[in-house]
Amino acid sequence: MSTGQEESIINRSKTRAPKQDSDLTNHSTPPLFSFDNSFAHECEGLYVPWQPASVSAPQMVRFNRALAITLGLNADRLDGPLGADLFSGNQIPEGAEPLAQAYAGHQFGGFSPQLGDGRALLLGELIDCDGERRDLALKGSGRTPFSRGGDGKAPLGPVLREYLIGEAMHALGIPTTRALAVVTTGEPVYRDGATLPGAVLTRIAASHIRIGTFQYFAARGELTHVRQLARHVMARHYPMLQNQADGYLLLLRAMSERQAALIARWMGVGFIHGVMNTDNMTLSGETIDYGPCAFMDAYDPSTVFSSIDAQGRYRYANQPVIAHWNIARFAEALLPLLHTDAETARFLATEVVDAFPGQYQRHWLALMRRKLGLCTTESDDLALVEDFLATLEGQQVDFTLAFRYLAQAVLGNEAPLRSLWREPTAIAAWLTRWQARIARDSVAPSEHAALQNQVNPAYIPRNHQVEMALAAAVEQGDLNPFERLLAVLLRPFEEQPGADAYALPATPAQAAGYCTFCGT
Ligand code: AMP
Ligand code: MG
Repeated sequence: MSTGQEESIINRSKTRAPKQDSDLTNHSTPPLFSFDNSFAHECEGLYVPWQPASVSAPQMVRFNRALAITLGLNADRLDGPLGADLFSGNQIPEGAEPLAQAYAGHQFGGFSPQLGDGRALLLGELIDCDGERRDLALKGSGRTPFSRGGDGKAPLGPVLREYLIGEAMHALGIPTTRALAVVTTGEPVYRDGATLPGAVLTRIAASHIRIGTFQYFAARGELTHVRQLARHVMARHYPMLQNQADGYLLLLRAMSERQAALIARWMGVGFIHGVMNTDNMTLSGETIDYGPCAFMDAYDPSTVFSSIDAQGRYRYANQPVIAHWNIARFAEALLPLLHTDAETARFLATEVVDAFPGQYQRHWLALMRRKLGLCTTESDDLALVEDFLATLEGQQVDFTLAFRYLAQAVLGNEAPLRSLWREPTAIAAWLTRWQARIARDSVAPSEHAALQNQVNPAYIPRNHQVEMALAAAVEQGDLNPFERLLAVLLRPFEEQPGADAYALPATPAQAAGYCTFCGT
């Protein structure tokens, strides 16, 4: 797989004298960022040092003050022109060591040996207020040696979309990368004949290391780099495994466990990622890359929104299957580290990979029990969950509202729930069974309801609302609908007065033919 051209990419670099600014060099004020760049220092050979492109007229469009504070940053100083300069890539803050990471990936089942950060740069790492290490990265910051034919840029719409959905996922309690800032560049981006406003997203992540990062080096037979990366990942995300004799095998198992937990959480809110390629699956267990993702309204396991997923490879019901497949690709990349004997290595890896469906099923069933308000376990619970889902599917019932209204049913008000079924008798027998099951838990109804309201959101990013908010921002420069929607989505489990419209699914006309695009 190795060619001279591919290897030479890693050896390139681009340096630029950082633009000096009094705010950055004034030593009477504390430094803006306390960088501690472990990837740059421990993973030489796995990236290209690179600089962002400068832009003509950066403007802060959205700054995540709450996140900035948890990162120990000075929100007041950054939420304005200085932040616009820094988070567009126009100025490189002191201590940053910008770099483009190399990675490969299986995209829709086919292997691309060389992807890498084609429009993103890791600026460096920060230790947040909880002592957790966080990547600070730019997306849309210009071309890199990994750009292939791309322009290295990002249009405002997809950048705002990643901000909105990522923050909504975080508020739902689902592990995810996060958005710190959206800055418009003042420069146009051209996509499919349209001229769009350009933007840069500042992304915060536990790390940006993907299955594809391992695949890049494994495919080139660069075992030293695979080992170097595995050690870095262990130190960073799985420190308990560091001194274990079979650490690499345990890494595979632990990563698989995190992905099982993550995908179960996606399934629990009807989230469809849309591009579950191996370069979009992290070692940290965070959701990454909100491209053509969307949330399902009516429950239908075959739901797929992405315009580029004609075969439905990444449809709702297939997400655990694909996660399993991706973990098998991770296992392949790790094989030479697992055992010197190839046959033994394969045997060990297979055993771990084969455990994924069981891991996933445990996480999913535990979550579904909570969603149904069950506090104990009974052997028939799986059937109870499956039968509920079957009745949702049979009548195109809204997934989010059906679960949300269960809490009211526990408290004696079954009407909102029943009203979701066009044919209410379809749910009658199930309701009787479920009420009897709930009663056997011997827990006060109010406790059941409280448990359910913590896990069944009232508000998810409804596709039609997301589209309206993004259209207003991009076409009219009006951020108000975006801000209103975001504010609701940041408190998904609380009923919010005046926010009823945000809880409702799209009308059939709004939902018809809904399709998402990668947004590159
Ligand atoms: P994604 O679909 O965003 O996960 O990206 C897949 C690959 O394409 C990654 O290597 C990206 O860096 C690269 N890529 C996506 N969009 C662009 C772009 N506009 N310019 C350069 N590279 C890009
Ligand atoms: Mg990606």
